[in-house]
Amino acid sequence: MSAEQLTVEGCAPEVIVIGAGVTGIGVSYYLSKANIPHLVLEKSQELGGIWSSQRWPGMRCDSMIVKYSYSFRPFLSDQCLVSSETIAQYLRDAARELGMSEKIRFGVEVARADFRSDEQMWRVETNAGIFRARFVVNANGYFADEPHVPAFAGREQFRGKIVHLCELDRAERGVYEGKRILLVGSGASAISAVTDLHQASASLSLLQRSPSYIYETSNRPSWLVRLAQRMHRAGWKAPLHWVRSYLQLMDDLVFVGFRTWPRIGKLFFKRHWRKTISEEEYLQHFTPRYNPWEQRIPVSIGLKKLIKEKQIEVVTGEVEAFTQQGVQLKNGRTLSFDLCVLATGYEPQFFKFEVCVDGQKVETRGINFFKGMMMGGIPNFFQPVGTLHTTWTQRTEVVASLMVKIIRHMKRRSLGSVAIERKEVAYRPALKANYILRRLEDQPALYGAWELPSVDRLLFYAFRSRHYTFTPRVGSAQPMQDPATRQLQPSAQLP
Ligand SMILES: Cc1cc2nc3c(=O)[nH]c(=O)nc-3n(C[C@H](O)[C@H](O)[C@H](O)COP(=O)(O)OP(=O)(O)OC[C@H]3O[C@@H](n4cnc5c(N)ncnc54)[C@H](O)[C@@H]3O)c2cc1C
Repeated sequence: MSAEQLTVEGCAPEVIVIGAGVTGIGVSYYLSKANIPHLVLEKSQELGGIWSSQRWPGMRCDSMIVKYSYSFRPFLSDQCLVSSETIAQYLRDAARELGMSEKIRFGVEVARADFRSDEQMWRVETNAGIFRARFVVNANGYFADEPHVPAFAGREQFRGKIVHLCELDRAERGVYEGKRILLVGSGASAISAVTDLHQASASLSLLQRSPSYIYETSNRPSWLVRLAQRMHRAGWKAPLHWVRSYLQLMDDLVFVGFRTWPRIGKLFFKRHWRKTISEEEYLQHFTPRYNPWEQRIPVSIGLKKLIKEKQIEVVTGEVEAFTQQGVQLKNGRTLSFDLCVLATGYEPQFFKFEVCVDGQKVETRGINFFKGMMMGGIPNFFQPVGTLHTTWTQRTEVVASLMVKIIRHMKRRSLGSVAIERKEVAYRPALKANYILRRLEDQPALYGAWELPSVDRLLFYAFRSRHYTFTPRVGSAQPMQDPATRQLQPSAQLP
């Protein structure tokens, strides 16, 4: 029997979600709430996405957890920022308690998804067989599995070890414990890792090619957050939702304010570091070439103390070449160490499988990306992404909710497909993140919102049918009505 003849026990899930990270699980919640049968296909054996797959020392989320956690299940904590382990556990608990775990098929990797216009159905090819569904939601993350590693001259002659930060595992301390470490980078990952790596190391130097603006926090929630959390525990839930909205509004206001009046931003950071370092050190190591909030601002916990007490050294300079003992910088300085940890970032990758329409591969380079939700010319396809300068989930939840409205609208009116047209869009990313700028022309071109979640959710995420092209339903392949998706299996095994 061919793949096409087989169905999923006589029916197909309405939606296939690819990836069980924070986005996929959130999407699954909104689909479940709307009784839309779906499956989540996850290539690894655990849910949580990057929060469970990466385990480097110090890994945490720089967004306040009260805001990063789902609105439908806020995470209450006496810390503002929590570790990746805590987030992974939170996601496991949320998925179990709210019934999303049973929708997930682990170890199923999507290789190709092909939308068949004649059936208005997706054919999703995986290592476990072929799945068919009316809609695909791509929640496969936006970073490639392989990190960004710059080419360094002479790295083969270095006698110590060079690893990318994301290859470290906090459980395997032997790799970094007691070592003289050079941590390369000045972005969010480097700044998160610095305290934990320093604690385990014999010594640590932080080498940055150019400085970043860094914001130090005590990690203690404000009285407002503590009060709202207390009220939430006592059963009065609304205040925490208001506080979440208020915090998001503050994030967006600071972003816009610093971008509009960079001198105020620069003054803020100068004052922020005034008591920790001298003016000269500030100019040398903490004065970036760009304006505040043109790039994401790393958040540190305990970095000020380490610098003030000279427990770590910050070095600004570009690597000329690796030597046997360490590196030679372009400014003539040499650094010796045993272990070089590269916190040099990630490569963006929005599609981790081939996307086709009627057998033709879709060229996704520079594709127009409407509201961080739908891509031009790919019918019945959603891809919720967050906003780069702030908490990811603040937009992905809004997108998931709009997506559900579109699907319900289609069901009510017996519509078979929804798309937006493919067109050229001038893309000016709100944030000049290095990983975006490295290959700007390849990136999906976002438009249709201001990239400010607190405002966008009010202005741009209401459902308006005129924004989309709908096609009446054709063919006989009816999606399943029974929400008991636990029964679902792939429709056929790949040959
Ligand atoms: C180090 C780091 C720090 C970050 N800090 C913050 C922060 O402070 N605040 C913030 O808002 N955001 C932060 N982010 C952004 C972060 O990526 C998002 O917040 C969020 O985790 C993205 O979730 P996701 O579910 O979309 O993707 P992921 O977490 O990447 O999950 C994608 C899932 O899809 C699965 N998958 C991939 N391909 C396939 C396939 N072909 N078939 C089946 N399954 C597949 C993967 O196994 C994975 O489980 C950070 C990211 C990193 C890497």
